[in-house]
Amino acid sequence: MKNTARVVVIGGGVVGVSVLYHLTKAGWRDVMLIERSELTSGSTWHAAGGMHTVNGDPNVAKLQQYTINLYKELEQISGQSCGLHITGGLMLAGTPERLDWLKMTVARGRYLGMDLELIDMAETKKRHPLLDEKHFVGAIYDPIEGHVDPYGVTHAYAKAAQIGGAEIVRQNRVVDLKQRADGSWDVITEQGNVHAEHVVNAGGLWAREVGRMVGLELPILAMEHQYIITDDLPELAGQPELLHVIDFEGEIYMRQERGGVLLGTYERAGVPWSPRTTPWDFGQDLLPNDLERIAPSLEVGFKHFPRLGEVGIRKIVNGPFTFAPDGNPLVGPVPGMRNFWVACGVMAGFSQGGGVGLALSHWMVDGDPGADIWGMDVARYGEWATRRYTNTKVRENYSRRFRIRFPNEELPAARPLKTTPVYDRMQAENPLWGDYCGLEHALWFAPKGTPAEEEVTFRRSSAHPHVAAECRAVRDAVGLIEISNYGKFEVTGPDAERWLSRIMANKVPAVGRVVLTPMLNERGKLIGDFTMCRVGPERFLLVGTYAAERFYQRWFEARMGGFDVQVRACAMEWLGFSVAGPASRELLQSLVDEDLSTQAFPFMSFGAMDVGLVPALVGRLSFTGDLGYEIWVKNEYQRELYDRLVEAGKPLGLRHFGGRALNAMRMEKSFGSWAREFRPIYGPFEAGLDRFVDLKKSDFVGREAALAEKAGGGERKLITLEIDAKDCDAIADEPIWLDGKVVGWVTSGAYGHSVGKSLALGYVEREAAQATTGFAVELIGERRPALRLAAPAFDPSGSRMRA
Ligand SMILES: Cc1cc2nc3c(=O)[nH]c(=O)nc-3n(C[C@H](O)[C@H](O)[C@H](O)COP(=O)(O)OP(=O)(O)OC[C@H]3O[C@@H](n4cnc5c(N)ncnc54)[C@H](O)[C@@H]3O)c2cc1C
Repeated sequence: MKNTARVVVIGGGVVGVSVLYHLTKAGWRDVMLIERSELTSGSTWHAAGGMHTVNGDPNVAKLQQYTINLYKELEQISGQSCGLHITGGLMLAGTPERLDWLKMTVARGRYLGMDLELIDMAETKKRHPLLDEKHFVGAIYDPIEGHVDPYGVTHAYAKAAQIGGAEIVRQNRVVDLKQRADGSWDVITEQGNVHAEHVVNAGGLWAREVGRMVGLELPILAMEHQYIITDDLPELAGQPELLHVIDFEGEIYMRQERGGVLLGTYERAGVPWSPRTTPWDFGQDLLPNDLERIAPSLEVGFKHFPRLGEVGIRKIVNGPFTFAPDGNPLVGPVPGMRNFWVACGVMAGFSQGGGVGLALSHWMVDGDPGADIWGMDVARYGEWATRRYTNTKVRENYSRRFRIRFPNEELPAARPLKTTPVYDRMQAENPLWGDYCGLEHALWFAPKGTPAEEEVTFRRSSAHPHVAAECRAVRDAVGLIEISNYGKFEVTGPDAERWLSRIMANKVPAVGRVVLTPMLNERGKLIGDFTMCRVGPERFLLVGTYAAERFYQRWFEARMGGFDVQVRACAMEWLGFSVAGPASRELLQSLVDEDLSTQAFPFMSFGAMDVGLVPALVGRLSFTGDLGYEIWVKNEYQRELYDRLVEAGKPLGLRHFGGRALNAMRMEKSFGSWAREFRPIYGPFEAGLDRFVDLKKSDFVGREAALAEKAGGGERKLITLEIDAKDCDAIADEPIWLDGKVVGWVTSGAYGHSVGKSLALGYVEREAAQATTGFAVELIGERRPALRLAAPAFDPSGSRMRA
């Protein structure tokens, strides 16, 4: 074993070898992988090897497509068979709602380059003779589903990596990690030490233990998972291999395994395995079977596929594999640490392992994952994802693996976790609470005396009239919304202005002013959108997305060298409210001494002022498109502020409004939002943020690429559509058609109550953005005509927010 390497990857499961292979492919050859036992000795060896392209996140779906298409390349390079069986697959719907979901999945596949086909039950039965069609209402056929041999895939990656120059050391446990002052690592192993610049934790079932070596508690948990293999079915002999099947209502998956059938289930009463520590002596072991636990699923399975109930069970496999609370992988550099990377919590290694390796290798080699992997970034979790939280959420996620998550559905586990001081006060207003990174925030308010409940649906829900009333209150009088669920940073120091000017694309505001600014990466893509508020010559408050707080922190910390500046994340220290609507000035004016007239405190002003008894920072800003103010206070003042605002607002017709109404109103103004319209796959000019990019500044991150985008015009354009919708509005990810061709996708949708229009924001090919008519948006299988709006649907001149 050599004693230095540029990278040490810990763990030789399917994920670790993929990272190793992709590092060599990206040009880093001085890389090594250390495996405690033999390759595949964690979850990998007993996996069912199934693979699919479909994923709720289109960006993750792309990486799954990449993974599946990689296997042929791997076989060619390594000479090792991956045991590829591309049988094609069926996703079965047993209810009309699931059929709606399938229609939406097919629609999304249109712009993802997938070849999904919706088929009726007669056709489905023809393609899968074992199923009993009376339990189903329709299906999707996907030609590139199937299964692989876990051993073959892992060894193919390993051999291809070795051909690329990597070293693989087996039977050698990493027992500790020590960081040197220069950020490099001493990797302490049973066979001696290796000095490495970077360490990748691909420890799979032991990723938590490897994390603990560096003081990190990763939010992952292993669950027991069982599948059975039946005796041979004589009728399968000599026939083409059965299609891979996901039976959502049965909560089972199945495929052919030699002459029999492999059937696995995600049972409701899933059981965590080794919830605190994974024993080091667990190897290529299986867990005791517990058929009773999966009996309810098997019963359904045998009803849906009657022949399976008539043959015997040849083998039962019960093995553990790991999940993050939301079921997506944890990938990337760990915030707050140097040169420590993770690639773990990968619950679908054979669909996702290639994409994870590709993204991580680019991130390490080029400083950027090269794809939109927001949904997998390790930075999405913070200290709030405790072990108990993880345990509760992982069990919830496991039990819902094959259930529909409706767009308006809130999941109950591990709640409430984070609440602000006004939570109990606001409870009296009858809100339906939503969960955002563990923080409770009001979605909408039900009339007092009626339950704050909403049926889950893809269509307009029972909340529709209540959200409409909230929008009306804002447009006609004044509304109050809690806005604590934003990320905040205090930026201070002599170089604060110079640093912000370098890191942000817009110009730095003068004291007492606010600017909106995109943040770009070196490729000129959007990685953040902020309100930059200047409190003093050397003091700023940055307000952005709460979910991205640790992502931003990691980005900032890596770019602070050479600046005398302090940046402090303070999301839960500064809490706030926004008052919005024509009467909002009168309301706030009654509580402050400063003159709030437009002459004295115009649009985009910012300043410290006392609101009643409370010291506050007040900005004249608007995300609703109406006159409005954002008021930030330290958390100990939040209740007093709330009481005063409510009291002062009463005679003016103040009404609480929630996140749904805010979303509807920002759509009426065509205002984009982070993670929807603004993501690392879009440039600022594509996103219509031209006026927030100050190209006159000689130097800021992403400037060259932004200039190039401006000169070239970008590939696509963000547009607003008015849809001739019936009972459902766009949500996100629906295809946009123009003259019979798919030209883009929706990023957000909502009903604009103040304008009486069903609205969508979305990206289309640049040329298509010129058209006005001829558009259609595919809503639940139906192409609904749409019109491009050349200006925001509400108050296009912006006079109301500037009034
Ligand atoms: C029953 C079952 C069925 C499944 N079916 C499918 C399926 O059909 N499709 C699919 O995509 N996925 C499936 N999976 C999930 C799949 O197995 C995992 O996604 C995948 O194996 C994760 O791989 P990994 O490399 O992250 O982790 P692991 O396979 O756990 O690998 C981690 C490796 O790291 C090594 N290691 C850990 N710590 C150290 C250390 N300190 N020093 C040295 N080495 C160390 C371990 O020995 C191990 O080899 C299934 C899992 C189970 C249990």
